[in-house]
Amino acid sequence: MTADPDSSHSSPPGQRQGVVRACPACGRKNRMLFSRLDVAARCGACGAALAPPAEPLAADRGDELAAVVRQSALPVLVDFWAPWCGPCHSMAPEVEKVAARQAGRLLVVKCNTDVDPAVGAAHRIASLPTLALFREGLELARSSGARPAAAIDGFVQQALGRAA
Ligand code: ZN
Repeated sequence: MTADPDSSHSSPPGQRQGVVRACPACGRKNRMLFSRLDVAARCGACGAALAPPAEPLAADRGDELAAVVRQSALPVLVDFWAPWCGPCHSMAPEVEKVAARQAGRLLVVKCNTDVDPAVGAAHRIASLPTLALFREGLELARSSGARPAAAIDGFVQQALGRAA
């Protein structure tokens, strides 16, 4: 067997491939890979079960967002928002409710479109807030305008049912 002398340079630095969660039992931080969010995870130190992400994850840069959407084993709901957008702020707690009750079935990501102008262009964001649902890197559906958690759930279920 031969070692690849360039293997240490093969991964781009700073690439986010998972979400870091503290173990509820021992406090150790564990990295849960986006690609394994559909399977039960255990703490690498003590073996306690790790709950799946139950709150929105921020991915503001285009490369971060693309990596999450491409790698996630769960469908990804992206909330495109901006700090100056009033309806975005009123919808934020609704998006958090969806993330909590869909934990383990859906990954919720918030993308501040002011951070990386390329994101809005790449995703053709015409108004805020816009919700877009992705599965296996492909956009299944999108919805513009603020709405309550129950309506967001309905949007997600309809989009996933239609695509199944
Ligand atoms: Zn632990």
